[in-house]
Amino acid sequence: MDNLEFKEEYNLSKEEIVELLKSDGKKLFEIADKVRKHYVGDAVHLRGLIEFSNICKRNCLYCGIRALNDKVERYRLSEDDILDFAEHGMELGYKTIVLQSGEDDFFSRDKMCRIIEKIKKFDIALTLSIGERSYDDYKAFKNAGADRYLIRIETTDKDLYKKLHPNASFENRVECLYNLKELGYETGTGSLVGLPGQSVDSLADDILFFKKIDADMIGIGPLIPHPQTPLKGELKPANFDMALKVMAITRLMLKNINIPATTAMETINPNGRIIALQSGANVVMPNITQGKYKLKYEIYPNKASSDMDSLTYHNNIINKIKSIGRYVSLDKGFRNNSLI
Ligand code: SAM
Repeated sequence: MDNLEFKEEYNLSKEEIVELLKSDGKKLFEIADKVRKHYVGDAVHLRGLIEFSNICKRNCLYCGIRALNDKVERYRLSEDDILDFAEHGMELGYKTIVLQSGEDDFFSRDKMCRIIEKIKKFDIALTLSIGERSYDDYKAFKNAGADRYLIRIETTDKDLYKKLHPNASFENRVECLYNLKELGYETGTGSLVGLPGQSVDSLADDILFFKKIDADMIGIGPLIPHPQTPLKGELKPANFDMALKVMAITRLMLKNINIPATTAMETINPNGRIIALQSGANVVMPNITQGKYKLKYEIYPNKASSDMDSLTYHNNIINKIKSIGRYVSLDKGFRNNSLI
């Protein structure tokens, strides 16, 4: 698609998406940046990420905190620590806190609701990313005050999904997304790019799926092989560019949504966040987990800046945002519906 140009509306066919995914991406990134500016402006929303448990009952083949990895030192934050970290995030100016964990049943419906209610006493938006739970759990979390939920579909290729997620169901993951939407969450999903056996065709299907469910947030991550997982040998440097292209096309198709420049992008490319912010992204999710825990939430190795204290890391990110003429948003950064 050499003739790609700025438009207010894109309804790309699968063939057109595939063509863009096979292009060098240069024009695509430029146009995605324009669409981002038109629909969500120059503000960058910061979401403070707290990784509160690395205990997980699942065995996703790519993930460093999978249950079968017995080399991970497991931890669970206490409720007090979670609240302290959230308060620290607020003091740094974060308007959104994201609570993420492995699928850890220790955090029962009641425990989660208690934590949510306490965090929501602060004037901040709260995002959860704790995996597949029942409709009633999601409903209780929403009633307790949670605003948003992130649960990546990872891949829409059902056969590949099955291979990568033992004892898990693609259909249930999709149902979780529909339940979250029905309950009124701002709902985020996304995919991994560079999975073994993943085709450009299936990446195009992922983008069409995001459009079909009208996701409010999309996070795209290049796969970063973890040495203690079955996918340890799958490192492909080209994953960065391909993930960037998936992200940029998503911006064209879902123009006003929130799209993070993901930590995984920064991890495989030292300038990854800035490049992503200039190719369609408008969100950054700095890790505000403190102390020793930050290093232990090792879903993939050498996570960008995981060895930095949260203040230094925070200031670095703000300086990077300013260096490209963008600014940090002062509001909670819900999906911007004002232009559509
Ligand atoms: N348990 C929750 C869930 O299932 O949604 C949230 C935690 S999970 C660790 C968060 C995300 O990490 C996943 O959606 C996956 O895309 C990403 N992830 C895991 N292993 C990864 C890897 N090796 N490279 C890149 N991203 C990875």
